[in-house]
Amino acid sequence: MSKLESIKCSFCEESAITIINYAKLRLCKKHFIEFIQKRVLNTIERYDLIKNNWKVLVAISGGKDSAVMLHILSNLSKQLNFKIIALHINLGIGKYSENAKYNAEKLCNDLSIPLILLDIKNIIGMNLLEIKRKNKRPICSICGLLKRYFINTIAIETKANVVAIGHHMDDLLSYVIKNFILQNINEISKLGPKTETKELFIGRIRPLYEISEKETSLYAFIQNLPRVEESCPYVDESSMEFEIKRFLNNMELRNPNFKIAFARALAKNINFYKKEEEEIKKCIKCGMPTSRDICAFCRLIEKTIGKSINVKNELKEIIEKLKVV
Ligand SMILES: [Zn+2]
Ligand SMILES: [Zn+2]
Repeated sequence: MSKLESIKCSFCEESAITIINYAKLRLCKKHFIEFIQKRVLNTIERYDLIKNNWKVLVAISGGKDSAVMLHILSNLSKQLNFKIIALHINLGIGKYSENAKYNAEKLCNDLSIPLILLDIKNIIGMNLLEIKRKNKRPICSICGLLKRYFINTIAIETKANVVAIGHHMDDLLSYVIKNFILQNINEISKLGPKTETKELFIGRIRPLYEISEKETSLYAFIQNLPRVEESCPYVDESSMEFEIKRFLNNMELRNPNFKIAFARALAKNINFYKKEEEEIKKCIKCGMPTSRDICAFCRLIEKTIGKSINVKNELKEIIEKLKVV
């Protein structure tokens, strides 16, 4: 028997399953779930993330973080009056991707949320590993570029007002510190609770901005959400982000509320990190926003398969199908 089982919930007679130090609360399962949902609602209100009648495109990876985000948004969608469409991008990284796709479909099915399933092999004719073989840049950078491009294109085509991304507080704060160390100052401006829509760049929101990794894991576990347990095979646990996460957790242990205070201070100062605006042009191949004549996606595709592709045409069928549902 663990020590916790003998401790009562702060709100009822049940045994507490967790202690939330920064809020000085001991919570049973039911009250923990309520506590996290309320915190996400507060985050949405505090940072004005979702407006009445909006359509929110929720990007889900099949992992626990975006599963938790979708579950909570689905719970709040009636109360705040917004619509949800989910998007899962199948990268084709063997068993890992198959598993991710299975869980993304199951989750959306359970929650009755329409899902756009995009298979990059169907669109580009190659999976992520095959694309990597033709290019020198790191696989995570290719993956990020493809995901950003598809998410943005689908957001435009589905007329979504905003895209919800499942990064939790520990991810975001560790990226912030990493980018500060590397002096990629402008990147920090993209790690706050939201980035606004600007012409053809559809805005991003991060509803888990004030939810920790530990809380996210516990929520997914208690709700038994469909999710892949293992992380992407290309995640490097010896990387700087993991070292920074350990540092943040040590600081939080000594000083509960350290991370939330950091996140809120960052949100307040986020505009300070923005670079002077570059002129935005339209890519001459695909019409999507870019700072050059041809966007990074079209350059990558041309280099990889020797010709350009019209993603909008390829996506039309997928999106049409969704309207029938
Ligand atoms: Zn309770
Ligand atoms: Zn382009």
